[in-house]
Amino acid sequence: MLAEVLIPESRLGTLSYLVPDHLSSWISVGIAVRVPLQNRIVLGYIFRLYDGPLLDTKYALKEIESIVEDQSFFDQDIVELLDWLSHYYVVPLSIILRQILPWGAKNLKSFKEGWMPPQAESSLWTPPKWSVLNAEQEIVKTSILCQQGKTHLIDGITSSGKSEIYLHLIEAIRHEGKGAILLVPEIALTYQLARRLQDRFKDDVDIVHSALTPKQRRDAWIRIRQRKNGVVVGTRSAIFSPVQNLGLIILDEEHDSAYKQESTPRYHARRVAFKRAMLAKATLVLSSATPQVTTLFQSQQHAVTHTLKTRYNNQSVPKIEIVDRRQFEKSNAKMLMMPLVIAIKEALDDKDQVMLLFNQRGLHRMVRCVDCGEPIYCPHCSVTMTVHENDQLLCHHCGAQRDMPLVCPSCGSAKLKKTGKGIQSLETEVKKTFPFARVGRLDRDIVQSKDHGVAIYEAFGLNQLDILIGTQMIAKGHHFPGVSLVGIVDADQTLFFPDIFSTEQTYDLLVQVSGRAGRGVKEGRVIIQTYHPYHYVIEAIVKGDRSLFYKEEMKLRKMAGFPPYRRMARIIVDAKEDIKAQNEIEKIEALLRQLRPDPVLYQATPALIHRVGGRFRWHLLLAWDPHVDVSAMKQQLLAYVQRSTTGTRVSIDIDPVTTI
Ligand SMILES: [Zn+2]
Ligand SMILES: [Zn+2]
Repeated sequence: MLAEVLIPESRLGTLSYLVPDHLSSWISVGIAVRVPLQNRIVLGYIFRLYDGPLLDTKYALKEIESIVEDQSFFDQDIVELLDWLSHYYVVPLSIILRQILPWGAKNLKSFKEGWMPPQAESSLWTPPKWSVLNAEQEIVKTSILCQQGKTHLIDGITSSGKSEIYLHLIEAIRHEGKGAILLVPEIALTYQLARRLQDRFKDDVDIVHSALTPKQRRDAWIRIRQRKNGVVVGTRSAIFSPVQNLGLIILDEEHDSAYKQESTPRYHARRVAFKRAMLAKATLVLSSATPQVTTLFQSQQHAVTHTLKTRYNNQSVPKIEIVDRRQFEKSNAKMLMMPLVIAIKEALDDKDQVMLLFNQRGLHRMVRCVDCGEPIYCPHCSVTMTVHENDQLLCHHCGAQRDMPLVCPSCGSAKLKKTGKGIQSLETEVKKTFPFARVGRLDRDIVQSKDHGVAIYEAFGLNQLDILIGTQMIAKGHHFPGVSLVGIVDADQTLFFPDIFSTEQTYDLLVQVSGRAGRGVKEGRVIIQTYHPYHYVIEAIVKGDRSLFYKEEMKLRKMAGFPPYRRMARIIVDAKEDIKAQNEIEKIEALLRQLRPDPVLYQATPALIHRVGGRFRWHLLLAWDPHVDVSAMKQQLLAYVQRSTTGTRVSIDIDPVTTI
């Protein structure tokens, strides 16, 4: 017998080994083995097995030395999935394996550690009971169950009770003896849904996300693999979970950019889910109140679309009001304009809760010299540093930290001014304006320092807070029935960002956060502060008319030749020296120009953020017609990436969601 073995520490693909007779009855796909490589013994995983006579090879094949553990970590479906990932995303197989088996893919030593049970999350929050589906939800559920094996899009307004449908779908699928994977965009959301599922399926439910320790992940992986039809709730990496008899994959909030991994392998969980469902002949359900324009476009041909137009429990859609900041600008240096202040006061008087969105971390956006006008830059990146508490300056790209300088590094002037307000300034202003309100804040600084923000979410859910101030993370999927007012403090923050997807992301964010209002008995109210009340994104939101946004966005995408009209890839090269990065990207550009079919190439340029963590970045965008087969081009790129060059790093981003 012959085995193809995947060796995590090797950048090559798989290597062939002979299976000695005494091991042949023990060996199967997914088993960890010890194999000789050069003069060492290394860890590998059985990727494929071939029976029958040996092919003639020029080289004498070596034998597998021994089995590490009598435990298969993956099956044939996962092998196919990894193979596909490697080709589609132009990433060596070994790197993908390290991603999906992070606990022990590197070396043999990690196998000697003991196993640990996963920690149970203790909490005051009691999950809402399962409820009976309303007529609209029931139709969607039945229709999906009648058309299994297909892709479905649930296009439902916020608060239309999509999660209830997921629970009932999972129950039905389990009834058929099949398992399910439910993906959510954020760790805090996994616990809420998992606990509701555990209500009914007890120990058959596992939580998988990147914040688990390697041991917890390994433990969960093995449990899932041993179950006949388990349920996994998790963030993007949970799409690789080895659920047996997989019958259903659900992507909640499919538009969310958290499904895209921004480091190699730069996969998108939606794309992987699509392939995984195909391999397992499982049903794929994408769901969102703001499906991506690309998803909507592709769904017209490839998916069954279900629309949910009424809010769950017949709540009315929140009323949206605009505050035109141009009318207030000079008279008011505050962040909250008078109409929003009055609305907050009214909500608080009625004992309602308020959410305020502001998407800038820290106290101030930057420090600028009054004399020469230069801001303070991060010493390692070409971005300005943000002012945090105790006059600490922080770089949001590489994490560098420094004290506030006494004089301007450019001209020596002592006149340094903090400009541009951050969410912590908003927090101070809110506390000052409403001294009796209980105010909480949620942003990445809070989440990183504590329990993923779970405590704050719960305090707000239990009505222990009146006002929740947060960055975009408060927009995601949480259900707080006490919120009657949502204030968007600055709708323009991301609207004009020089990135091809920034308008869509802004639209999604504003719709999602608006949807947090009025999920209880009371009518919801949303107040949007903006300088651009006539921008198509803002207009579409005020009128509650997505087609207004969709038509305009598609027109612009078509003109520019962006997705979904073309597929895109982005190649990023970084190096310690600017010239090295530039030379490398130009070499790749030249290589791509010779290829047939030739993709549309945009010129190689320094990336918008040219320097990050002390390394200079250049990038190159390419695009091609979605009907053109580019596998040959990808093969050549992969071969190029696998040849290591000194000091430069090449990353390939297929279907990028950002171009910064
Ligand atoms: Zn200066
Ligand atoms: Zn930096």
